[in-house]
Amino acid sequence: MYISTRGNYDPVSASKAINLGMVPAGGLFVPEEIPLLSEEEILSMKGLSYQEVAQKIISLYLDDFQEKEIKECVTKAYNSANFYHPLIAPVVKLKENTYILELWHGPTAAFKDMALQILPFFLVKSIRKIGSNKETVILVATSGDTGKAALEGFKNVEGIKIIVFYPYQGVSKIQELQMSTTDGNNTYVVAVKGNFDDCQGAVKEIFGNREFNQLLAEKGYDLSSANSINWGRLLPQIVYYFTAYLNLLQQGEISAGEKINYVVPTGNFGNILAAWYAYKMGLPVNKLICASNENKVLTDFFHTGIYNKNREFKQTNSPSMDILVSSNLERFLFEITGHNSTRIKEWMEKLNKTGEFQIDNLTKTEIDKIIYADFASEKETLTTIKKVFSDFGYALDPHTAVAVKVYENYKASQGDNTKTIIDATASPFKFNTTVLEAIQGSESITNQDEFLLLEKLSRIIDKPIHPALKDLDKKPVLHKTVCSKTEIKTEIEKILGL
Ligand SMILES: *Cc1c(COP(=O)(O)O)cnc(C)c1O
Repeated sequence: MYISTRGNYDPVSASKAINLGMVPAGGLFVPEEIPLLSEEEILSMKGLSYQEVAQKIISLYLDDFQEKEIKECVTKAYNSANFYHPLIAPVVKLKENTYILELWHGPTAAFKDMALQILPFFLVKSIRKIGSNKETVILVATSGDTGKAALEGFKNVEGIKIIVFYPYQGVSKIQELQMSTTDGNNTYVVAVKGNFDDCQGAVKEIFGNREFNQLLAEKGYDLSSANSINWGRLLPQIVYYFTAYLNLLQQGEISAGEKINYVVPTGNFGNILAAWYAYKMGLPVNKLICASNENKVLTDFFHTGIYNKNREFKQTNSPSMDILVSSNLERFLFEITGHNSTRIKEWMEKLNKTGEFQIDNLTKTEIDKIIYADFASEKETLTTIKKVFSDFGYALDPHTAVAVKVYENYKASQGDNTKTIIDATASPFKFNTTVLEAIQGSESITNQDEFLLLEKLSRIIDKPIHPALKDLDKKPVLHKTVCSKTEIKTEIEKILGL
């Protein structure tokens, strides 16, 4: 069963948790218990395909799904039509003891595809299971990558409408075009004059708005979420922490039971939380390294125990991490305090009211055992891209570069040589201007056409352009709506004809 982090909702089945997206009264669903795998069970998965490992891990969490239903979801999501690499999420060796987990071979060139290719299938099955006859409206707030990945996953899915809100002029040109050119008979994209936190805040408020939900229900609509506040979005991400480990084992890079580190470029704390669940399930993990950009609210939190979002919001060259309210931290704190919902509620209410909260020392000590946190500046991000390309001929996107830089800081300060996997969360082509600026200097990108730059980058790094980004300039722009941050609810009403 799935329970609320704030203790304000009766336990629900997996399908209900996925269907609801988040707890209607505020709070997030987490599994009542984390399934544990023995070392033998983990080692026995060595040599299995991505799909086979996914089947095993997902089955442990979706109690009210049949094996064959999960298999159908896995097969439809992870195949050669959607992913441009036979391993789905390959691990490449950067240098001694350092590996890159490429999570960007999906249809939108960022790691969000790993979960958003399968979530629609979970959701459709969940809706059927709970016997709902309503149309489901998926509300998405995006800092750039979730939007397109969700649109691709949900477009033309029967019984579903998807509405995406992104910060107007707060995403890269390519990200914007990816979203605004989406076809499909059930897709809506709205640019909001505000930042990601404004979008996410408004969407969360709508989820918690009882009156509005009542109105929607009367009109035959149900709300759900494709953001990582939805358990169905987090769960598929646990899988690749296992496959990456098994992959190193298979290649003989590590020995059975050897602990490794994972470095995760972090925004909403979803991806790194998935790594933590893998660790709690028994995966041999030494440290989880949380990497932030200049919006380093998480770095400060892990260093001081004080979460304070009252600060300047910065637009950085790793926009998918430009976040000051990391939603999934709530789940993590609930887990790390041994399911203390009273305290979580208190902290979250404080955060809502004053923009900050402070955790107790005991909780902080628990966290310090597993998490290391640091950040990379804008300049360091560019320098890292340049250096890694010149040293190893490997092109990093800016988000991954943040992670690489923080890992260097970690090694230098902690002297830990444990083998380490760094999550690569986007293809360098998706952030081509920043990558080219880093490698060739800012002159190389001034007044240049975005799509010529893709070709230029392709020549320089000697890799084909990611198929998801080719021909984007030839597609018609189908979504042009812009609204202010106070008009988000009105836009939804307009779209649904309320
Ligand atoms: C979403 C995203 C992140 C941050 O992931 P979280 O799960 O929100 O912490 C990092 N890099 C890229 C490229 C992303 O799209």
